[in-house]
Amino acid sequence: MKYKTIAVIGLGQFGTTIAKMLASMNHEVLGVDINPEIVQKVSPYVTHAIVADTTDEEAIKALALSQFDIVIVAIGDNIQANLMTSMLLKEMNMPHVVSKAENALQGKMLKKMGVDMVIYPEYDVAQRLAQSLTREHVMDYLQLSKSISLIEVDMPKFLVGTCLKDSNLREKYNLNAVGIRRGEDLEVPPNPFTILSAEDKLLIIGNNSDLDALTV
Ligand code: ATP
Ligand code: ATP
Repeated sequence: MKYKTIAVIGLGQFGTTIAKMLASMNHEVLGVDINPEIVQKVSPYVTHAIVADTTDEEAIKALALSQFDIVIVAIGDNIQANLMTSMLLKEMNMPHVVSKAENALQGKMLKKMGVDMVIYPEYDVAQRLAQSLTREHVMDYLQLSKSISLIEVDMPKFLVGTCLKDSNLREKYNLNAVGIRRGEDLEVPPNPFTILSAEDKLLIIGNNSDLDALTV
């Protein structure tokens, strides 16, 4: 992996967590926040930490971000500050800006400004939790598009004792298995001849309606 230089603007819960995580992966991380106390607290965990109001054009330019590979805007509650910061970054031609949005409208505005990736951390976690709590046998759930998801399920009964090759999973259910989880091990891609047991979990990708047939 090539190490990257990444700036994280807004060191709330999410910003601090991602900044520390990236730094622990040995990337060069600059943490930025308007609040000096917060900057001081995060400083030991990142490469550099700076106090700045990134809605101030002069201040954000003074951060000299032009050499950075990625800038993450993790300002949350203050939507205006999030939008202004994101807009200034795209005006400065930053090549890869990732911004956190609280709702769909903010996400739409960020996209219009040219933000490269909009993330909805709270929404994503809530959605995954809601799905895994309410769908029986679903351990994990990742929506890949409006209609396609990747899920991890308890081994469906009809597959126990057989293998994928003999399963008709593709023809009959229109689903593809992408992994078999057995204890700590994850077999990816799955061997079509592995005999599946009731204790295994299956990672499957497919249309939501086809997945429903298997999990509801
Ligand atoms: P989380 O849930 O991740 O904690 P949050 O929604 O609580 O996010 P906020 O506290 O609103 O996030 O913002 C995150 C950080 O952004 C705060 O530490 C805040 O000081 C900082 N911040 C707010 N405005 C600016 C700004 N103009 N420039 C730089 N940092 C800012
Ligand atoms: P293709 O024509 O797509 O190459 P195939 O029938 O030659 O498919 P095989 O890998 O030999 O493919 O698998 C035979 C059958 O076993 C598939 O049609 C499918 O029903 C099932 N199968 C094998 N692997 C998987 C998998 N990972 N997920 C779902 N079904 C699978």
